[in-house]
Amino acid sequence: MSFDHHRLQLQLERILPTVQKPGRYVGGELNQVLKPWDSVETRVALAFPDIYDLGLPNLGLAILYQDLNARPDVLAERVYSPWTDMELAMRNNSIPLYSLESHRPVLEFDILGITLPYETLYTNALNLLDLAGIPLHAAQRTEQHPLVIAGGHACYNPETMADFIDAFAIGEGEELIHDIVIVYQAWKRSGKPRADLLLALTQVSGVHVPSLYQPGYTDDGLFTGLTPLHPLAPRKITKRIVAQLPPPPTRFIVPSIDVVHNRVAVEIMRGCTRGCRFCHAGMVNRPVRERPVAEILTAIQTALKETGYEEVALLSLSSSDYTQIVDLVDKISKHASENHLTISVPSLRIESFSIDLMDKLKGSRQGGFTLAPEAATDRMRATINKPIAAEQLLETARAIYSRGWSTIKLYFMIGHPSETMEDVQAIADLCQAVLSEGRKIIGKRASLHAGVSTFVPKPHTPFQWAPCDTPEQMQAKQELLRRELRGPGLKMTWTSPKDTLLEAWLSRGDRRMGQVIFNAWQNGAKFDAWQDQYRYDIWQAAFEAAGVDPAFYTHRQRAEDEIFPWDHINPGVRKAFLLGEYRASREQIFRADCRDSCFGCGILPTFAEIRRENPGKHWMCPEVPIRKVKKPLEAVIS
Ligand code: SF4
Repeated sequence: MSFDHHRLQLQLERILPTVQKPGRYVGGELNQVLKPWDSVETRVALAFPDIYDLGLPNLGLAILYQDLNARPDVLAERVYSPWTDMELAMRNNSIPLYSLESHRPVLEFDILGITLPYETLYTNALNLLDLAGIPLHAAQRTEQHPLVIAGGHACYNPETMADFIDAFAIGEGEELIHDIVIVYQAWKRSGKPRADLLLALTQVSGVHVPSLYQPGYTDDGLFTGLTPLHPLAPRKITKRIVAQLPPPPTRFIVPSIDVVHNRVAVEIMRGCTRGCRFCHAGMVNRPVRERPVAEILTAIQTALKETGYEEVALLSLSSSDYTQIVDLVDKISKHASENHLTISVPSLRIESFSIDLMDKLKGSRQGGFTLAPEAATDRMRATINKPIAAEQLLETARAIYSRGWSTIKLYFMIGHPSETMEDVQAIADLCQAVLSEGRKIIGKRASLHAGVSTFVPKPHTPFQWAPCDTPEQMQAKQELLRRELRGPGLKMTWTSPKDTLLEAWLSRGDRRMGQVIFNAWQNGAKFDAWQDQYRYDIWQAAFEAAGVDPAFYTHRQRAEDEIFPWDHINPGVRKAFLLGEYRASREQIFRADCRDSCFGCGILPTFAEIRRENPGKHWMCPEVPIRKVKKPLEAVIS
């Protein structure tokens, strides 16, 4: 295989002026890493299967890019999905998918790592493989093809994409990626067949090789489990975690075109202990681990210097729960006002404390203040385990309007298990009540934006047994809200039921969905996360051609003892714990924040050794006592 770099450059010079935003396809940005191709042993292409504008700010890929390029024996380069105009030009000119740094074809890399943070990227992942000239089905790849690995939240149910991925990296990638590289290098030096590489990867904790398992089904289509096809293939794959969050990346690549976030992003904490029963991220990212304030401040200062950005985002699933948040915000706000920086702290809880924090940051009040109550009746709040009293929300809203914000954005979810039309009506009533408080304080300037998404049951959550609403139920609820949330100062946005259905099919799919995804891609499905690109009709036809009933994956109540296609993946949180939470939701029992009192979700027994070796307050789980080693005599007499 020979790569004609000069020819590719000439082709790009010709076609780039004909496509939208050519800056997406050239690389060469500030802080990109370009190593001599022959100076390293292993080359990794890191792909985000959507356009550059969305993929460039992805923090997970930024971490892997920096970590891999820090190794002298590895180079990592970036790949994104070309937008439809560029894809057409590439196909018409036989230009294969290439990396932005060296403009080398992806086919020439050793490893292609695809991040899958959400399910609606699956067809784009297939499209990337096709554009790269890599066989879509893992079974058809040979020693000449890159190893295709995938990681990210949508890989916690790997069965749906099992046909297309050589190995899934489950959990946190900071240490895992190095273990994969080490195994890959040993295999490459050995000159052994590809099958040996796949087998060796099964011995890496956190790696799942789906081709080494055979799924089984009952006559009526229920999944019966995975049978390992090799004695070395483990029955359970436990996610990887890092004991301590390593220093965050600081050399962010600065794009030369506008992307969704032009900012320094620092993850202040990973995981969440609140236990919202619908929340996939909250369940699979446990345990909670915090970064020290000093490390965050140093990272911000370094990153600002390295990038020239003027905005910093402090990321986590629930930023007000970061134990040092007041200290951190105090220190940052001083620096921010001296240097005209904008600081954003998303994911704040509904309490006046959150407004104090935002006040300290003295940022713009233009974008509005965002809160996520998710539900509007006490019954629903107890069901989903997100307890916020209506009066507390109104009090917070009054404080927000009084302190200079004119818009409040409230995020709700419809379709939670057991939801009635009264619960939906309560969402409209609560929005009206909040707006009316605003009117009392700032008059007609007060406005309210309700963002109403539709709940999709996710694997590894307490609601994994629950059915998803039917399109008719979704429509009826949305119509009610659209009718009620009209008028001056009110705005409502919602998710189309067809978009929700796609997410629902893909989230709890099994290996039979592989044929459906393949059919859909073959008939033109891609950019499914884009409303103007998603084609519901193509997916309907794809199900029909595969002989698979879409409703099986969405509207079916699962029995409590049903075996799930993702049961072989261990996120640390036990299935029995999730079931207990599901039962508690039906009885509307609240579960408190577990940092105050551990209720044994399974994380500690799963990672007991790691916790034991890493005592301290950076974990929010209790410490695990050091094992007392019995003296020989004690051992004999006990
Ligand atoms: S082990 Fe205990 S403290 Fe840690 S996440 Fe689970 S329930 Fe919470």
